[in-house]
Amino acid sequence: MNRAPRLRDDAHRGERVLVIYTGGTIGMHASAAGLAPGSGFETRLARALETLSINQQSQLPAFEVESLEPLIDSSAATPLTWQRIGALIAERFADYRGFVVLHGTDTLSFTASSLAYQLQGLDRPVVVTGAMQPLEAPNSDALANAYGALRYAASATLKEVAVYFAGTLLRGVRSVKQHSEAPKAFDSPNYPLLGERVDEDFIEYPSRGLGRSQRGAPRFELASYATLAQGEVARIALWPGISAWQLEALLGDARVKGALLQLWGAGNLPDDPALLAVLAKACGEGKLLAAVSTCPQGSVRFSTYAAGAGLFDAGVLSGADMTPEAALTKLVHLLAQPIAEADRRRRFLTPLVGERQG
Ligand code: ASP
Repeated sequence: MNRAPRLRDDAHRGERVLVIYTGGTIGMHASAAGLAPGSGFETRLARALETLSINQQSQLPAFEVESLEPLIDSSAATPLTWQRIGALIAERFADYRGFVVLHGTDTLSFTASSLAYQLQGLDRPVVVTGAMQPLEAPNSDALANAYGALRYAASATLKEVAVYFAGTLLRGVRSVKQHSEAPKAFDSPNYPLLGERVDEDFIEYPSRGLGRSQRGAPRFELASYATLAQGEVARIALWPGISAWQLEALLGDARVKGALLQLWGAGNLPDDPALLAVLAKACGEGKLLAAVSTCPQGSVRFSTYAAGAGLFDAGVLSGADMTPEAALTKLVHLLAQPIAEADRRRRFLTPLVGERQG
């Protein structure tokens, strides 16, 4: 791991922000095989920030950069990656006023969601960002995203894991990547913005942030994800014609400990008792099964369709209006906790960090 102090070296440790660089397009260089993670990022970032106006530079907090080794394209991230970043923030927590995580965009929302569960009760900002173009590319969004993330990471009022991207501040556990090319690649389909950049102002909407009663005292939950990092929590989106044997092939495997189902609309699935039987069998074996919608907006409600009652009886938990990223990382997080199955089920249905409707 590299650590290099940048800008205003006179600032005390507790006034600084820690930037954790994990890889992703933001720091990539062209290679013979295409874009690949690049090194020397702290120097490159400092150089880029020096091209900002004097006024903008004066608004930046002092910061230090740590690069995780190896740097990865975030498509290679696993729950162990989430655990590693969570553990690093927890270990350095007392030393910094806030944190920026620079991450590939492909699985950025998974990491942001997982960090929210691991770092419950945050009393300072953790801002996750990345870029659609490398830092040195013409018209790159990287510098603006890094600058905005640093500004929000120095906020005294932001007290949760957020994603900053293309001028908008989103609740991390409500964020999704919604565009594969445009600079405005992230959205928060079921929750309003936590803040946004308006010209040179970085505005927050405090009434949308996690309130003190919702947040509670810092109570980091840093359980090991080692036994859940190789696909033990699966994700299955319905398609017309899905059959019980296919569900059984996945859920019947002894290695699978939980699964996220993506149902149609408000919580519908084909009217096939064999499908429900597979789900009931898996739940009966103690597997943690939850459901959200294939629709990016809205909520699943098991009471809307007759099929929903069957899901409830089978033991499938409603993910309400959670994003798939928030629901899947929550399943991993709860399965990693040394708690009884009934507690896991109760906690899944309870908003822990503003990830779902109550
Ligand atoms: N494949 C890259 C990654 O997720 C995409 C990006 O960063 O935008 O690491």
